[in-house]
Amino acid sequence: MSRTSTICPGCDRDDLVQAVPAVYLAGRNAVTSRERDRDGDMRTVTRTVSTALSDALAPVPEPPTYAIGCLGVLAGAVSVGTFLGGVLAGKWFREDPAHEPQELGGWQLLPQDVPADPPAYEFLGWISALALLVAVLVFTLVARRRTAFTRITRRRHQAEELWSLGWYCHRCGTVHFEDVPGEDRTPLTLQRFREKVWEHGGYGDLAAEQRAVDPARS
Ligand SMILES: [Zn+2]
Repeated sequence: MSRTSTICPGCDRDDLVQAVPAVYLAGRNAVTSRERDRDGDMRTVTRTVSTALSDALAPVPEPPTYAIGCLGVLAGAVSVGTFLGGVLAGKWFREDPAHEPQELGGWQLLPQDVPADPPAYEFLGWISALALLVAVLVFTLVARRRTAFTRITRRRHQAEELWSLGWYCHRCGTVHFEDVPGEDRTPLTLQRFREKVWEHGGYGDLAAEQRAVDPARS
């Protein structure tokens, strides 16, 4: 049997306590709760739960950004473009009448005998090769990052298991565990909760890098 409510150890009240997954999923949605006003009457309060709170309660780290992938696509496009440009320029070069076989004193000079400046299209070839190298490097980097992230978070189900047993108090801005072996009911800051959950998933060190930003205290 799972609980539907619990008393917050910080304020000894249950009216603003909500299961962590519910708070997390609410995201930007409005959350309605019952609250006692100054006259002691119960009233329905609608609060807009910020994404910041949802973010702070995330059970897994942010996946790596793939913005650098755009650079790879761009480099790939440059590589193909300059390659095609080089092919066309090479074609034009061969059709250049200056490089047609020439007569000189009765001897026919073949095009390769005609002294010529280094063809400009060679530079396009170098740019194409360089851009291709950049594209390959970027895509390798993105693939490695993705693999690393999947490997680091492979035990995320364990973290999510502990995470789903957390209770968030909207009044105190803290999370506590209820009936979790090895965990007491001490109210935890969002950062401390993140550390416990992420450590459970085996990626606790990332909690130090990606700190939980408490929207109520920032
Ligand atoms: Zn509380």
